[in-house]
Amino acid sequence: MTLMGRMMAEPLMISSLLEHAARHSGDAEIVSKRVEGDIHRTNWRELARRARQLAQALARLGCVAGNRVGTLAWNGYRHLEIYYGTSGSQLVCHTINPRLFPEQIAWIINDAEDRILCFDASFLPLVEKLAPLLKTVRHFVLMTSRAHMPADSAIPGLLCYDDLLAAEDGHYVWPRFDENTASSICYTSGTTGNPKGAVYSHRSTILHAYAAALPDAMNCSARDVILPVVPMFHVNAWGLPYASAIVGCKLVMPGPHLDGKSLYELFENEGVTFSAGVPTVWLGLLNYVKSNGLRFSSFKRTVIGGSACPPAMMKTLQQDYGIEVIHAWGMTELSPLGTLSKLTTRQLALPPEQQQRLLEKQGRAIYGIDMAVIDDQGRSLPWDGVSSGNLVVRGHWVLDKYFNIDKSPLVSVDGVPGWFPTGDVATIDADGFMQITDRSKDVIKSGGEWISSIDLENIAMAHPAVAEAAAISAAHPKWDERPLLVVVRRAGMALSREEMLAFYEGRIAKWQIPDDVVFVDEIPHTATGKILKLKLREQFANHRLPTAGAAG
Ligand code: ADP
Repeated sequence: MTLMGRMMAEPLMISSLLEHAARHSGDAEIVSKRVEGDIHRTNWRELARRARQLAQALARLGCVAGNRVGTLAWNGYRHLEIYYGTSGSQLVCHTINPRLFPEQIAWIINDAEDRILCFDASFLPLVEKLAPLLKTVRHFVLMTSRAHMPADSAIPGLLCYDDLLAAEDGHYVWPRFDENTASSICYTSGTTGNPKGAVYSHRSTILHAYAAALPDAMNCSARDVILPVVPMFHVNAWGLPYASAIVGCKLVMPGPHLDGKSLYELFENEGVTFSAGVPTVWLGLLNYVKSNGLRFSSFKRTVIGGSACPPAMMKTLQQDYGIEVIHAWGMTELSPLGTLSKLTTRQLALPPEQQQRLLEKQGRAIYGIDMAVIDDQGRSLPWDGVSSGNLVVRGHWVLDKYFNIDKSPLVSVDGVPGWFPTGDVATIDADGFMQITDRSKDVIKSGGEWISSIDLENIAMAHPAVAEAAAISAAHPKWDERPLLVVVRRAGMALSREEMLAFYEGRIAKWQIPDDVVFVDEIPHTATGKILKLKLREQFANHRLPTAGAAG
């Protein structure tokens, strides 16, 4: 007969993260640059008390287990209190990306059936406009103090967050319940269709946070000072609000102040050691630091992901500023971490150029994630670093089903069901290092051969006169699709089409070199800071490639 383990079956509760941090690292600071522009200081002990007060206040407002509480908010202590106060009391924290179109925001709030909507003062005009469209929201809560409440507002009965908390005593005991209960919801940003809700559980969130904190992942410790540049509305700030509670470190929250100067000042004044964000945010910070001849005194490492980190940016951070760049891959449906690029002992003995190439890959799966690359028939492909196919994953914090959609998105690998198709195209090498070659929708299909748009962009970004570049497919009469490069020049620098194309010579196979280059003032971005390829393809739908006539 099976012998069962005789260990406690403690449910994994998000509230236990907070109570652990409050008890063991109560004095560790949580510093927030607020919407109002001032700096606010609290700590884990105080934050836990306020989260309990919030749980009481939400119950008083009529919230019951399973209700959703929406947030439209930047990274800050009040947002963190809402993370813990909602999930801890069996409510569901629904973080909403304010950069989406207003109609999309209203759609998402209605789809999630948010009962309460909490928002930062900067979103008051937006919420006033949206309020009549929101069918399920019973209470609107402005995340501010009484002193900053507007004299009057188009929202009837607008509540003041700090007042709600002040009315409670904080004597609240977090309930214990099934660890598979929903803790938070995050919608995909709809880069590839309608937004869809990923519903995380207490269990998936905690297991993800444990793994995220590991040395070969984000390597978080009590001695760190962590500044998540990645917003709390973008896949729970990649799990950092939870991982930082596990280790009990100081947290620095930048609010809406994400420009190079504001970030640099926070990094320096607060002694930030570790940060994380999408490549575009580092562009602004690096430009500021470079143009003012500044150095970082405490900043040691950063995780970059969300889209491919251009090798040129990685080199600048590493070689010019001594900052370790950990390239990571993930997605909303993965809570989000899947792989990170950290070298093994054997690889550390390789020549620097080879090490660099490995670091530029998206890296190895962390424990808890299993991955495979498959062909269109669902057959797994070899891990040889060359065979590229559709990347599929499964694991403790991978989505099983979307919110409100019953149809399973999962596929089979070699006849075994239960794998999530990521929509990414990748290779995996013999050491398990995965490299994204493209999103399946962005890959440029030239006469049956695939050209990686990421490769083309990385080369362009290495040119000193290029501020940003995007490679998209343009229609071609002979090859179906050929690459078109869209470039934003660096301010004050000259660059011609011919110079750009010549830069590709010797850096990539000849047939993969773009057919044309167009210069634009700005490249459109998604709500999560990625290049909006769909829009670019529309914008250049009628672009006539110079090679089209000759080939036709
Ligand atoms: P959305 O799907 O709305 O863009 P996500 O944040 O979930 O929002 O995006 C996940 C996708 O981002 C991945 O499927 C992948 O295409 C891309 N991505 C994430 N990290 C990387 C990376 N390091 N390199 C290349 N692409 C990445």
